Amino acid sequence: MDIESYIRTTPDFPKPGILFRDFTPLLAHGPAFAALIDQLKARYADSQIDVVVGIEARGFVLASALAYALGAGTVLVRKAGKLPHEPHAQEYELEYGSSILEISRDAFQDGQRILIVDDVLATGGTVGAALKLIQSHFSVSIEALVFLMELDALNGRQKLPAVPIHSVFHY
Ligand code: AMP
Repeated sequence: MDIESYIRTTPDFPKPGILFRDFTPLLAHGPAFAALIDQLKARYADSQIDVVVGIEARGFVLASALAYALGAGTVLVRKAGKLPHEPHAQEYELEYGSSILEISRDAFQDGQRILIVDDVLATGGTVGAALKLIQSHFSVSIEALVFLMELDALNGRQKLPAVPIHSVFHY
């Protein structure tokens, strides 16, 4: 199964100069989506993962499917203003301005083994903020950061702390 052929690349979206990597055709194709999740399941089957964390919004889709495949739970890292009960928050810089990620205060139990999942690793700003959010408030073991796609030229992984990083496809 050539999973990669279901990733669609669109130039100049959402802004001029951005090569947008869209995996919604892969999600829409049952056998391709299953092959992707099975591949990730095989990689982490022996890692005793308790929770797969998804980053809003496209990370949610991958995280929940992988969590189900691994028999793990799913935790959502959300954009600001979506979670009740005074969540923990982490601000981070975007190309223009800044944004905030949030997580529930009761997201994890001490010692849990987790994966953090998103669709794309670009500059690393988003997953870096998610990592900081989790590491500064919880005592969990981050087994890996998992991406469907990594944009190598942006050197996102160099800006991240020493946590294993796995990307299915590199561009
Ligand atoms: P970054 O914080 O720069 O690592 O960007 C990661 C986030 O932005 C991910 O959640 C992606 O969904 C999105 N993103 C960044 N660059 C692209 C791209 N070229 N194509 C699709 N999504 C992207």
